[in-house]
Amino acid sequence: QAPFDVMALRNDFPILRREVHGKPLVYLDNAATSQTPQQVIDVFSDYYSRYNANIHRGLHTLADEATVAYEGTRQRVKAFLNAEEARQIIFTRGTTEAINLVAQSWGRTHLAAGDEVLISLLEHHSNIVPWQLLAAERGFTIKVIPVDETGALDMAAYRALLSERTKLVAVNHVSNALGTINPVKEMAALAHQHGAVILIDGAQAVPHQKVDVQAIDADFYAFSGHKVYGPTGVGVLYGKQALLEAMPPWQGGGEMIKTVSFDVGTTFADIPHKFEAGTPAIAEVIALDRALEWVEGIGVAAIGEWEGVLLEHATQGVKRIDGLRILGTAPHKAGVLSFVVDGAHSQDIGLLIDQLGVAIRTGNHCAQPLLQHFGVDATCRASFAAYNTLEEVDVFIAALNRVIGMVR
Ligand code: PMP
Repeated sequence: QAPFDVMALRNDFPILRREVHGKPLVYLDNAATSQTPQQVIDVFSDYYSRYNANIHRGLHTLADEATVAYEGTRQRVKAFLNAEEARQIIFTRGTTEAINLVAQSWGRTHLAAGDEVLISLLEHHSNIVPWQLLAAERGFTIKVIPVDETGALDMAAYRALLSERTKLVAVNHVSNALGTINPVKEMAALAHQHGAVILIDGAQAVPHQKVDVQAIDADFYAFSGHKVYGPTGVGVLYGKQALLEAMPPWQGGGEMIKTVSFDVGTTFADIPHKFEAGTPAIAEVIALDRALEWVEGIGVAAIGEWEGVLLEHATQGVKRIDGLRILGTAPHKAGVLSFVVDGAHSQDIGLLIDQLGVAIRTGNHCAQPLLQHFGVDATCRASFAAYNTLEEVDVFIAALNRVIGMVR
């Protein structure tokens, strides 16, 4: 039993009414991107038909309306994450860009040879590669926090890796590949004891649980709009005020300056505008406001609770399949079910199950080091959202059984 009316809420999502290969769509690829409610879709036509204008510059009515709506999202995100101040919310293109911003601005000025950056084996490539690129330039060392056989972080190893050389810990809050929920509050406290800064990739956490950046004591926290029922092209970087204020700009251009001069040099705007060069994704930012409003209307804790029910039902269903191995069995898990099947390639399963209308993810989930560790190069992954139903999980399990029968 869901803590909200799932059938009523499904009506908000026009895409859930479509068919795929003549079958009703069962969309279980929510960790890659979630579907978008009509309220969010409507923002685009409303914005472009009524108040499309560049923000922060014009004195005319349209520019003012667009600016108020854009800045309104910043207030919404501030409350959503429980940030201290709205100016600590920076709009980016997504989690990836938020992490690159921290790497290029904070990292380039704070990391040098002899320093260590701790990341985990659970990281998405977007929280690995920016640090590798910078390490090649700055000469610091990257160390990797290992995981146990359930896919939980090895906290004893984490404690042992921390030292006065540690300048940054960069970890995800929830793993997209396995669903593991990491103890980020405890990790932040430990990082701080060693004088290190912690960046948390919250792309997979924000849609499924209440996130309070102050309670976690996160220094940086990033997420993407498109995984939380919003559009692509917009994401958020939260940062502690003192850190953001001390950081140099990353991209230069309009909007991020106070004054520009060839003679006396250029001065920069205050945060958050210092980090928002150029015309941003205005409609997308406004649409993110509507997405978060939608999530708050249902309650993110209630959504997470329902996804837990779906995950449990799906887990019981796949456990009955011979030769199926679940990857990621940590006690604290979000709604992600990753598995491999003996004698059946993940890609084949993904392609064939699509013929039955079921959308799951197959591949390495942008977490190649993690999959290598588990000795596989791909898994199948079903991931859940507020609008999924127990009946859909049953359709998925039946389809999976059929497909495995075909390929074995
Ligand atoms: N981190 C995690 C844990 C993710 O799941 C994703 C998206 N799969 C990202 C980062 C990157 O997000 P984006 O592609 O929206 O920048």
